[in-house]
Amino acid sequence: MNRKIGAILVLLSLASLLTAFTICIDPGHQEKANLSQEQIAPGSSETKAKVSTGTRGVNTGIPEYVFNLELSFILRDRLQEENFDVVMTRERHDVDVSNIERAELANSAAADLCIRVHANYSSDPSLKGMMLLIPSPTATYTAPIYEESRRASEKIMASLQQIEGITSLGIRVREDMTGFNWSKVPVLIFEAGFMSNPEEDALLASQDYREALVEAIVSGVVDYFLSRR
Ligand SMILES: [Zn+2]
Repeated sequence: MNRKIGAILVLLSLASLLTAFTICIDPGHQEKANLSQEQIAPGSSETKAKVSTGTRGVNTGIPEYVFNLELSFILRDRLQEENFDVVMTRERHDVDVSNIERAELANSAAADLCIRVHANYSSDPSLKGMMLLIPSPTATYTAPIYEESRRASEKIMASLQQIEGITSLGIRVREDMTGFNWSKVPVLIFEAGFMSNPEEDALLASQDYREALVEAIVSGVVDYFLSRR
């Protein structure tokens, strides 16, 4: 077979392979917080706000819920170009969707991976960097989704770390995330950077940087699904 035709056939079969996968994107927060409480995990007596307020750019004044949705739209469009099916937990700001409901949306879509998009805050304005958060391997409700969440995160992190000048704070396990604890599908939070750091806040507002972040995530997601056992 002609080598060029062979390469095209490989690409076509990869594209159709990815069509079989559904990604849920959860743009964190919403216009108005909902501070009524919900269980942090199935059967837990501990509760947290249904949707917390989120942060705001110290320099740009951009609310986190706006950044999260704008980045999520870029991510959605790029994943669709790669032939993934994409479901979103919200496409507007004026919604009221709790963290349990967001997890259940990903569950009922039988998503192969849920990517939750957030930006970070610290009282220390010098702190900056992106990180990925994943569910706990030891909590009984998240143990079944830990390994695939970790594998997807490692691929995405490796790709994000290629971005020139980016600060990486690595992959961290969290047991206190309602959206993790109710999830039955592999899930991670992309914390894009600190809106409390003036330079990183400005960077997160730039279209070029947003596109670079999304390109890296998409490349990591593709690597993950192509290598999935
Ligand atoms: Zn957030």
